[in-house]
Amino acid sequence: MTSYSDGTRAVHAGLPEPVVGEPFLPGPVFAAPYHLDPATGPGENGYARTEHPTRRALEAAIGALEGAPTLVFASGQAAITALLLSVLRTGDTVALPADGYFTVRAFAEGTLRDLGVKTVLVPTAGPYPDLTGVRLVLLETPANPGLDVCDVRAIAAAAHEAGALVAVDNTTATPLGQNPLALGADLVVASGTKALTGHSDVLLGYVSAGDPELLGKVETWRKQTGGVPGAFDCWLAHRSIATLDLRLARQSANAAAVAEFLLARDDVSGVRWPGLPSDPSYPIASAQMRRVPGVVSFDLGSAERVARFLTEAKLVFAATSFGGVHTTADRRAQWGDDTSPGFVRFSCGIEDTSDLLADLTAALDSSV
Ligand SMILES: *Cc1c(COP(=O)(O)O)cnc(C)c1O
Repeated sequence: MTSYSDGTRAVHAGLPEPVVGEPFLPGPVFAAPYHLDPATGPGENGYARTEHPTRRALEAAIGALEGAPTLVFASGQAAITALLLSVLRTGDTVALPADGYFTVRAFAEGTLRDLGVKTVLVPTAGPYPDLTGVRLVLLETPANPGLDVCDVRAIAAAAHEAGALVAVDNTTATPLGQNPLALGADLVVASGTKALTGHSDVLLGYVSAGDPELLGKVETWRKQTGGVPGAFDCWLAHRSIATLDLRLARQSANAAAVAEFLLARDDVSGVRWPGLPSDPSYPIASAQMRRVPGVVSFDLGSAERVARFLTEAKLVFAATSFGGVHTTADRRAQWGDDTSPGFVRFSCGIEDTSDLLADLTAALDSSV
C-alpha cells in the first residue's frame, strides 16, 4: 500500500479483500455480544468493548496511513488521556506543549498533578530544555491554535538520548500531512474529529505505535476503561477517510489563498500559516510535512470586530473544531484559553477559493 500515492491510499485504506456480492466497505455491525462457540468459547469476536469488526476495519485504515498498528477511541481526549495514564506513573515527569490543545494542559494541571506526575510546559517553537528525567514528551505540530511547528526528528533524537518516549499529536496535520513515526516518534495520538474525518459529524481519537508492548499497554487501558467509539461512528469515519486527500488538497489551496489575501490587508494582523514562505514555521514545515493543512490564524484586534466579521460572512460558520468541509472560524478567547481577544483560528473548508475570498473581502470591509 505504501507504494501508492495519497489519494489511492486514502480510498483503499482498511478495505477488506473484494468478495463477490459484498459491499466495498461493509456496513456497521451493531452488536455488543456475539454468538460464541458453546464448546470452545470466544473466537475473533466475543464482546464489542474488546473486539469489533467495524472498529478493526477503521483501525486498519488509520494504521495504513500512519504506518503502525492503531487503536481508536471515543474522542481525541479519550485517546490522549489513555496514552498519558497508561505510560505515566507517580514521580514521572511529562513534557507538554505550552501552546497546544488546552484541555491536555488542564488535564495535566488537575488529574496528573493529583497523581504525582510533574508537568514541564515547553513552547512548540522551543527552546527545548534538557529532557533528562522526563518519561514522555508530547509534541503537537503544527500546534493548535498558534500554528508553530517543531522539528520532530531532532527532538525525538534528543528525547531518546535522555531515555524519554516521544508522542506526537497529529490532529492538525493528519497522517497525509506528516508521519511522525517515520520521523522518529514512538507514538502518534490524534483527534479524528477534525480533518481526518472532516464532516463535523463524528467524535473520534486514536493512538498508533510500532512497539507492540507500548500499544499493548494502551489497549489494556482501553479494554479496562472502555472509551471505545460506537459502530456507526467507526463506519462513518472510515467512509469519510476515502476523501481525505481531496479534502486536504482543497483546504490547503484555500488556506494558501486566504493567508496571502489576509497578509495583504492592513486591518488584519498576526497572520500565520506554516505554508507561507514568510511564516516562522515555514523552514521546518516545508522540510518535515508533506502538505500544510487548511488552518490559518490571525488577529482582528477585538472581540467585537470578530463578531461583526462573522455576522457579515456568509460562508464562514462561527464554530469551534476545525478541519471540516465547511469553512469555520473560532475566536479562541471565548473558551477561556490564553489567546488575545481578537485572535481567530480560521479553518478553510472545501468551498471554491474565489467564493471564499469574495466573502472574506466583503465581511472584512463591512466589519471595520
Ligand atoms: C480537538 C483536539 C483534541 C481533542 O480531540 P477531541 O476529539 O475533541 O476529544 C486533541 N488535540 C488537538 C490538537 C485537537 O485539535
